Amino acid sequence: MGHRILHSSAALRVSGLTRMTSIDFPGKLAAVVFCQGCPWRCGYCHNPDLLDATAPAAMAWGAVLAFLRQRQGLLDAVVFSGGEPLLQPGLVAALQEVRSLGFATGLHTGGMYPERLSAALPHLDWVGLDIKAPEGDYARITATPGSGAKAWAGLQCLLANGVVFECRTTWHPGLFPFADLLALGRSLQARGVRHWAVQQCRTPDAVPWHWTAEQQAALAQGWHGFTLRNS
Ligand code: SF4
Repeated sequence: MGHRILHSSAALRVSGLTRMTSIDFPGKLAAVVFCQGCPWRCGYCHNPDLLDATAPAAMAWGAVLAFLRQRQGLLDAVVFSGGEPLLQPGLVAALQEVRSLGFATGLHTGGMYPERLSAALPHLDWVGLDIKAPEGDYARITATPGSGAKAWAGLQCLLANGVVFECRTTWHPGLFPFADLLALGRSLQARGVRHWAVQQCRTPDAVPWHWTAEQQAALAQGWHGFTLRNS
């Protein structure tokens, strides 16, 4: 059994590693493993080099494990990010290995594979789910028809499971109006989401703007946890 797990996660294509961060897993010191490949094509993607699923791994999974063994007792958690980690069949085995080393496990996902997300949840302590927009605006943002239904199904999956999670929305005024962002937050609250992070999009084509105090107060209202971030 152990041998099969090692064989499976060895296929995880890792494109990079952040050795220590305090902002990618709330309340924990974490390493971040970046996974290669994503089927969507968001105009504001900050990791375009990670999107090609066929690109060779920049780092062997065994090297990641060797690094983590040196950090036992020093780091609390490992977050799998990307790209889209759920694209890779080796993810669950990798999560199991990371947990067996004593680390909490986290996942950043776009929610595009609700069934794979369900299968991974027993092996996860925390999830950051992108909710990029109201469902009808998704295809325009991700350049992928049907993407909105997938992401919102991913949200239902998290709500039904009871895992601790945060919804994350990347926004600038060119994507959709502020009123829609506010309504998006209210809609998430109404479904039972407790933690929301709004990430200010700073791509070169995004018009520069600043939150007003009123906007910040309106966004933050009613959450158990609310964060404004620069992305
Ligand atoms: S889902 Fe995430 S990784 Fe994929 S293209 Fe969009 S921003 Fe980039």
